[in-house]
Amino acid sequence: MSQMIQRTEPCPICQMPVKTDGAQYMEKRGERLYFFCAPGCRDKFLAGGCCAKPKGRWGRFLDRLARANDKEFGASGPSCH
Ligand SMILES: [Zn+2]
Repeated sequence: MSQMIQRTEPCPICQMPVKTDGAQYMEKRGERLYFFCAPGCRDKFLAGGCCAKPKGRWGRFLDRLARANDKEFGASGPSCH
């Protein structure tokens, strides 16, 4: 196993690659860990934005509700991705 490979994750705000090893700024959302290039990006993430909702039981319920709406109204609403 090589130790030379640096794992990086894209900053969810600006898409800059962030080294996950010794990352200074990170946030956990449900099962996912997000890495940020700078505290400003983390602040933006924490401030909200459609990708930043915590996915607890309530979040999953809202997801299901949103999917049901998609079925009923078509997926024409504002899209996150
Ligand atoms: Zn960033």
